[in-house]
Amino acid sequence: MTIENTVENTAELTGFAELGITGPLLKATVVAGFDTPKPIQIGAIPPHLAGRDVLAVAQTGSGKTAAFSLPILTKIIALGTKRTPRTCRALILAPTRELAVQIEDTIRILAKGLHVATALVLGGVSRSSQVRKMAPGVDILVATPGRLTDLVREGDISLAETRWLVLDEADRMLDMGFINDVRRIAKAVHRDKQTALFSATMPTEIEQLARGIMKDPVHIEVAPQGTTAAEIKQGVVIARTKQKRKVLSTMLADPAMSSVIVFSRTKHGADRVVRDLERDGFNAAVIHGNKSQNARQKALNGFRDGSVRILVATDIAARGIDVPGISHVVNFDLPDEAESYVHRIGRTGRNGADGIAITLCDPSESSKLRSVERIIRAKLPITADHTGEPDPARDPKERNERVQEAANDRGGHRNGNRPRGDKKPSSGKPGGGRNYGGKRRFGGNRTPRAA
Ligand code: AMP
Repeated sequence: MTIENTVENTAELTGFAELGITGPLLKATVVAGFDTPKPIQIGAIPPHLAGRDVLAVAQTGSGKTAAFSLPILTKIIALGTKRTPRTCRALILAPTRELAVQIEDTIRILAKGLHVATALVLGGVSRSSQVRKMAPGVDILVATPGRLTDLVREGDISLAETRWLVLDEADRMLDMGFINDVRRIAKAVHRDKQTALFSATMPTEIEQLARGIMKDPVHIEVAPQGTTAAEIKQGVVIARTKQKRKVLSTMLADPAMSSVIVFSRTKHGADRVVRDLERDGFNAAVIHGNKSQNARQKALNGFRDGSVRILVATDIAARGIDVPGISHVVNFDLPDEAESYVHRIGRTGRNGADGIAITLCDPSESSKLRSVERIIRAKLPITADHTGEPDPARDPKERNERVQEAANDRGGHRNGNRPRGDKKPSSGKPGGGRNYGGKRRFGGNRTPRAA
């Protein structure tokens, strides 16, 4: 992929005014507390304002919502408020309801007082209120692909007047089986559209989709594909599946784990984890696809306002959630797809804050762990091993190698270099007093800083 607009060659630009944002929107960035544009905003806003299609590799938490919203709002405000019934001028597609709600919230904050009409079209909630909201026409529609497809098919929404299209978290839309809906929707949008596509990873199918619907896009990459943020310290705790409950509860007894998201591969698993946590005396909430929209929003609100310390989530439900100040991510199990690991741990270490990600790994999950290590291009240190006796179900040689590597790490870094940004533990406690889920001292591994 050609990278025309890297962070390096635009880093000298500072301030949203230099990026071309003016008037009330410039003020709105100040009110929102956006002092300095983020790399994705530096990369995406000028070409978007100039009318170019934009293809960006960017993670949730990178500031991508403002990167596509500010240029679209700039253009929509210039058009005035004459709207056509049942249409939207700009369409933003997102994989999950939570992410869509979050995007609309951000747009509303940035467009406060500017007479920009927005609407949400999501599955899992009543259609009739969405149809009513769309009846006079809106400026910006934020939608999930399934429900939007239904409403377009039934004639409640027309995309014929839509000139701006954003596909947010395109790789996740692919994972969730929305790719054909997305293709159909992109076709239904006006021929002379401007498209922006954001994706944390760029699998072949997404590249093909981009080639099919975009015109000579500017490529932007703010973090190499599959890398994780620099501020997240990662470790693996080896524990058999039946030991994981106790290991998790012991970890959570540490008050340093102040705001924790626990990932489970399955909905059933997430329910079991939350039940066990409650039995062990913890206040936890759960979100997954079988929960109603209201229950999910309630759980998320509790977690966001701090009244719930532990949120248990499946990959899809947690996708795109932006809750600041998450101190720890715990992977109760390894995800089926290695890319999900990057998304999971990206919930912590946001906006420059420190974050810790701990992965509980049953010996039978070691091949999934290796896939994760391949994708993040780093070996994850083992911070504790609770399995005791060798497990016949697992290759003991491999585990011994890992434990040996962790021991070597404690004596000095594998390749003799301390990874960039790594801090020495500051106290005698494992990992300088932070909880990494085990008795052993944390070896220290940070994925190299993104470009
Ligand atoms: P996003 O990747 O769009 O979900 O954004 C992640 C977080 O960064 C959100 O909480 C935004 O409010 C925040 N944010 C976006 N742009 C900036 C900025 N330029 N300065 C500070 N915070 C920002």
